[in-house]
Amino acid sequence: MTISQDLFARAQASIPGGVNSPVRAFNGVGGTPLFITKAEGAFTFDADGNRYIDYVGSWGPMIMGHNHPAIKQAVHDAVENGLSYGAPTEAEILMAEKVKELVPSIEKVRMVSSGTEATMSAIRLARGFTGRDKILKFEGCYHGHADSLLVKAGSGALTMGVPNSPGIPEDFAKHTLTVSFNNLDEVKAIFAKYADEIACIIVEPVAGNMNCIPPVPGFLEGLRDVCDEYKSVLIFDEVMTGFRVALGGAQAYYNIKPDLTCLGKVIGGGMPVGAFGGKTEIMDYIAPVGPVYQAGTLSGNPIAMAAGLKSLELLSEPGLHAKLEATSKAICEGFEAGAKKAGIALTTNYAGGMYGFFFTDAEKVTTYKQATECDLERFKRFFHLMLEEGVYLAPSAFEAGFVCAAHNEQEIKDTIAAAERAFAKL
Ligand code: PMP
Repeated sequence: MTISQDLFARAQASIPGGVNSPVRAFNGVGGTPLFITKAEGAFTFDADGNRYIDYVGSWGPMIMGHNHPAIKQAVHDAVENGLSYGAPTEAEILMAEKVKELVPSIEKVRMVSSGTEATMSAIRLARGFTGRDKILKFEGCYHGHADSLLVKAGSGALTMGVPNSPGIPEDFAKHTLTVSFNNLDEVKAIFAKYADEIACIIVEPVAGNMNCIPPVPGFLEGLRDVCDEYKSVLIFDEVMTGFRVALGGAQAYYNIKPDLTCLGKVIGGGMPVGAFGGKTEIMDYIAPVGPVYQAGTLSGNPIAMAAGLKSLELLSEPGLHAKLEATSKAICEGFEAGAKKAGIALTTNYAGGMYGFFFTDAEKVTTYKQATECDLERFKRFFHLMLEEGVYLAPSAFEAGFVCAAHNEQEIKDTIAAAERAFAKL
């Protein structure tokens, strides 16, 4: 019995499923999750002393690499002054100013403590601002676990086979309309039907919770036009893509301006942080200036602000996002070449610092349907073969892979060589 197996058995006696977030339990791939003891740069280390090249990166935040010395120092410095005050600090202003500088569609921003809070609050704000109840989301997109958003959801909900979670009253869910990602005709048709009842469209501009599916040309532009036509709020959920696909997020990469943006993951540098922001006209609709209520005991926490701000400063280094995209590209091309050599059908997608690979005959995957029809058994075997090779991939076929600034030539080479051996064994 490994130490991880022992810890997992113990964890299950006092934590539901042994984990504090479902996908961690390896339900998507089977087997025992690794219990992590430390992480450094591109690597994580498990309780049994094994080292892995890590492509999960705490599900996105660790874009500068694990335990970055400057971020660690910023946290240490902040800790010296106390952990939380529940009163305003200058660090919150610095964070807001930095977010506005990097994401110009954001004129005002409110900090929260998770991506879920960011999307939940943005939806409430869009509803309050427009006076409309319905929202439109896309099948397989995940926006956290707020009631309105766990309808045809991706990520763990899809991995566990509960895209529509029990516990959400039909009366709530009926206000959430869903259509297919990358299908503008469906969006137009549903707007034609409900016209001025739809408060907002919420979308992952690059879908990262049903594997990795970038928008097809014209899709995001079309969403912008539809929202303009029907006076609906366009919300980009950039919790995953923010500061990752490009320094200015997917909205900079694809040059589309949403009305509201949700942020998380990278913005906290590894601490629990989220944010939502956008047009002043809409943002001033929240309390205390406006009537839509939203609050948080630990929102803008000084330690979290210190870690996040330092992370954003480091990310602003010129050329860093070009390096991240080059890493994603190298991984994708390496995987495709390795699979081809072994006679395995595989295709890949990437955008900036996120990527995905699909066991399918399809030339390109652009839809939820295609993503869910891929060979999941093959994915599971590949995942475990890679783990044996010392490469830690996302433990689900419905999650994007994340690269970080600490993935250098050697790690990329080792990952591709490991994949070649794994493909040969499939
Ligand atoms: N939106 C997106 C696009 C996400 O990927 C996630 C988390 N993976 C969330 C929202 C929810 O964020 P959190 O887990 O921090 O609540």
